[in-house]
Amino acid sequence: MPARKYSTDAERKAARRAQSAARYAANGKKRNADRAAYFAAYRAANREKAAAWRAANQEKLTAYQAAYYAENREKIAAKGKSWRAANPEYAAAAKAAWRAANPEKQAAYQAANREKSAAYYATYYVANRDKLAAYYAANREKYAAQKKAWRAANPEKQAAYQAAYRAANPEKMAEYRAANAEKMAEYRAANAEKLAATYAAWRAVNPEKCAAGQARRRARFHNVTHVPYVDAEVFDRDDYYCQHCGIKTNRDGNYRSHRAYPNKDHIVPISQGGHDALYNLQTLCKSCNASKRDRSDHIAKSRRSAA
Ligand SMILES: [Zn+2]
Repeated sequence: MPARKYSTDAERKAARRAQSAARYAANGKKRNADRAAYFAAYRAANREKAAAWRAANQEKLTAYQAAYYAENREKIAAKGKSWRAANPEYAAAAKAAWRAANPEKQAAYQAANREKSAAYYATYYVANRDKLAAYYAANREKYAAQKKAWRAANPEKQAAYQAAYRAANPEKMAEYRAANAEKMAEYRAANAEKLAATYAAWRAVNPEKCAAGQARRRARFHNVTHVPYVDAEVFDRDDYYCQHCGIKTNRDGNYRSHRAYPNKDHIVPISQGGHDALYNLQTLCKSCNASKRDRSDHIAKSRRSAA
């Protein structure tokens, strides 16, 4: 029998405990690494099991995450902020993906922060004008395609925008027409039917504008002065009395062919150089107008100026 190292069991146990504590302390790092590797391997080998567990405990998990988030809001926000600062490209891609996946939320956010973003972009554009111009020049085709798609998807907005632009920039429009006269004539020739249909539809909904345009063109054709007016101004001024026979004309309840229907008449016909303006216009009843035809009406004129 070899000599016993320890005289009592208690001594032996104490020595062994001390030895194992020392070994445990010395192997701390290795043990942690081993444990991490073990768990990583375990997780890798049991991925499906974990997914099944998560699926089965979704509510519990969601509640836990919500509680954790509520309790650590600032900590999480700070962590996210520093991560985004360190990974700008990933952050931008994640943002773009989120926006694409959540269009309603994105729209709501934009609507709620419209002024804030307008102010932000205004300063941003001013500060980055050159950079933006260069970027735009480098991505011209991409932007052109984007614009085209937007216009196709938003025809009313596009039409309203164009109308506003035309109204605000008459000189630019005139310059453009002058510079592109040939191109425009070619377009009109190639799209005659389409344009005729468009104009017909426009005339149907804009009778007054249409009449005003006709009056302008007729005056231009006869080289006489045109001062815009509407027919009702003539009738109101003459109080609906025929300036020739003196009967009271009436539009309400009368057909256009009725003899008492009010007619607007040029005292000196435009074809004879009379101006297209209130001062050369008078009210006639239908039958007086029909018998007058294209004569200058001095009688009626003198009648009105006497009244
Ligand atoms: Zn009359």
